[in-house]
Amino acid sequence: MHFLDQAKIFIRSGAGGPGAVSFRREKFVEYGGPDGGDGGKGGDIIFEAIEGLNTLIDFRYTQHFKAPRGTPGAGKNRTGAGGGDLVIKVPVGTQVISDDGENLLADFTKPGQRITLLRGGDGGRGNASYKSSTNRAPRQHGTGWPGEEMWVWLRLKLLADVGLVGLPNAGKSTFINQITNAKAKVGAYPFTTTKPQLGVVSHRDREFVIADIPGLIEGAAEGAGIGDRFLGHIERCRVLLHLVDATGDDPVAAWNIVQDELAAYGAGLDEKPQLLALNKGDLLDQELMDDIAAELGEAGAENIYTISGATGAGVAALLDQVIPLLDADQEDEDDEDQGDHQAWSPL
Ligand code: GDP
Ligand code: MG
Repeated sequence: MHFLDQAKIFIRSGAGGPGAVSFRREKFVEYGGPDGGDGGKGGDIIFEAIEGLNTLIDFRYTQHFKAPRGTPGAGKNRTGAGGGDLVIKVPVGTQVISDDGENLLADFTKPGQRITLLRGGDGGRGNASYKSSTNRAPRQHGTGWPGEEMWVWLRLKLLADVGLVGLPNAGKSTFINQITNAKAKVGAYPFTTTKPQLGVVSHRDREFVIADIPGLIEGAAEGAGIGDRFLGHIERCRVLLHLVDATGDDPVAAWNIVQDELAAYGAGLDEKPQLLALNKGDLLDQELMDDIAAELGEAGAENIYTISGATGAGVAALLDQVIPLLDADQEDEDDEDQGDHQAWSPL
């Protein structure tokens, strides 16, 4: 199972401009010949894969993409200007699929990859090009070829940047609803308790994907609970955010249960950068919250923040801490990439 983001968009390449009907007018030349230029070609629809995009969220706001038409030809055999190509930028990993869902039209696997999906129509011929020995003054011209148009699906497998972990009832769903505005929430993921919930967070001009991994319960790593099916997803996350219910009977024990699960699962989960959010602060005095935070600190927890997912208190400060962790992890990956290149260099 994977997370899918998808959007349906309409694309249309530009029509070609019409050819011109024109005749030379010169002093002392009684009948000037035809000199109408051809119309310009319409703009193409081009898709380009770029780095740094995570989601198809932009395509929820802009769904129609139309390349400009070519401009008409003109007298003196001037060809019309071509309509500019329209380049649609999509995240690496995006697939373009036909409207009926049957055909894979393009599959973007590398940054910089470009595909012209719809070609702009050619410009119509100007009357000059219809001149022949039998027709020296043609009034004929081409009107320009139409562009092409279609609806397509964009589909992207999403990778969550941040994995939310915590016992049931810790407040994960509430938190994700608080930080991902309803509009930005990634499409049709039916909310059930057995499917991860995804959301896109926009914070200080950054965008990242957060996944609520439900049902992480004691023994999940050995396959006892439903949670283990989702632990695979948090393997790919860059940062873990561990939510602990401050109003629970024993927040330290709750924290330990999940930490043990992460360690037992292996795959380096317990080594991922982690933030601890002590949640439901609206129900307790700050002083009590601080005491519990201190206890968690003594138990070995780091990066502890007190928040209320319900009211949003403390949440912005917590998210401020997420961004540098995502960036640091990105740098690590970049370093690893370089290492790979060195290993392959033919020395
Ligand atoms: P999940 O199981 O971790 O997804 O937890 P939910 O988000 O479903 O929350 C469990 C319960 O705690 C619900 O009744 C929420 O309304 C409540 N809850 C969650 N966060 C807060 C909070 O910050 N303050 C208060 N007062 N209640 C909360
Ligand atoms: Mg939940």
